[in-house]
Amino acid sequence: MLITPAFASSTDVVEPADVVPQVHFDARETLLWGIGSDADSVAVLQRQQAILEARSVRRLAAAARKSDSLARLPGGSLEFARRSLVAEVATTLLISEGAAALRIDEAEVLCGSLPLTLETLSRGDISYQHARAVVRQARSLPEAVRGEFEVVALARAVSQTSAQLSAHARVVRERMHPDSIDRRHREARDERAVWVENERDGMATLVCHLPAVSAFAIDDTLDQLARSLRAPDETRTHAQLRADGLAELLLHRDGDTAARARGIRANIVVTVPALTLLGRSDEPAELQGYGPIDHETSRRLAAGADSWLRILTHPVTRQRLSVGRERYKVPADLRTAVVLDDVTCRFPGCIRRADRCDLDHTRDWAHAGETSLENLSALCRRHHTLKHQTAWRVRPGPARSLVWTSPAGARHATAPPDHTPAPRPGRALDNVPARPGARARARPSLPADPPF
Ligand SMILES: [Zn+2]
Repeated sequence: MLITPAFASSTDVVEPADVVPQVHFDARETLLWGIGSDADSVAVLQRQQAILEARSVRRLAAAARKSDSLARLPGGSLEFARRSLVAEVATTLLISEGAAALRIDEAEVLCGSLPLTLETLSRGDISYQHARAVVRQARSLPEAVRGEFEVVALARAVSQTSAQLSAHARVVRERMHPDSIDRRHREARDERAVWVENERDGMATLVCHLPAVSAFAIDDTLDQLARSLRAPDETRTHAQLRADGLAELLLHRDGDTAARARGIRANIVVTVPALTLLGRSDEPAELQGYGPIDHETSRRLAAGADSWLRILTHPVTRQRLSVGRERYKVPADLRTAVVLDDVTCRFPGCIRRADRCDLDHTRDWAHAGETSLENLSALCRRHHTLKHQTAWRVRPGPARSLVWTSPAGARHATAPPDHTPAPRPGRALDNVPARPGARARARPSLPADPPF
């Protein structure tokens, strides 16, 4: 009997018992095959789990419909019928009533207005976490646009982590929301606040709910402050220096840290459509790493705030017309171009911001790789090291896409996000597997009794 490849898209879990005796045996290849096979098995189980989640969703939505019918009977009450339903589900599933109410609500949104998301979950192509990311954004959209929203939001869902999908769906929602972003932002801005959440071991988390441009500017300021605090013999991590810098800045306003902070100007990148700047278009500007922002803020930034990198774009092609550089610590043009196009680290699933990444020559400089937009991509330090220190490999694909191959032979493609203003499905990739994780590695010859 020969081995059946255990691709992640198959529906049966291939157990090690399927391996076959062969004369030749390479320990390294066999172990790598074993790792790939184990990962594939988990992927199959994860798909089955998603299929079961879809069935749960349908049952919960059915229960909600029955509860509503109950409420319409003589003497019924919608509120108490719903409360009773929530208690029924919570006590049956041993979850809190809050969690039960959320599950029921998500089930109703999925069954009521997100048929494509539910169908994708039912096939096992996305996890419940993915479906939940879509529901979270769709819930605040009018019913009429939810159908269009989910088509665009799900365009790349089968090859995204739930965090990536969540970020993409948030931007799509901003772009598709029929209410003006200015009005929505004015209302949302009223919710700004700072609060403390208690944690274990004498720690607490300080949460600031702020307009996005302020939050990004503070974040960048802390980055710069942390770098300025790093002494040659510094033992604190960058994250610790950021936290210490923030506390010093707010609690010791006469101290050395506050003095350093006064010399820092926050750098953020805002892309402004040229016609918007002239007041002839409503298309919102976009804050890099976030998405669309309100007009008042973008006009204020464009009018002369001195610490923003401002980019004008052509009204039709959306190509970049100019890059404002006033008092901005200007990176090389090429670095700027790569960072703007990539947005995040280009390793599969990583959402580390590109402006905090290294630039990597996809084809090594030593092997005739060019220093060009096509051959450079943003990789965070962790994944840059992974590429150079392990057997993970990458090759360039069309339109700056990258095809990664794991040591166990799984292939994953990544591409820069779609920068066009109008929502549309993601860029199609040629010559790459539709689903991530298909393994290119041929199955090795295996002994009857492998050492794992
Ligand atoms: Zn990364």
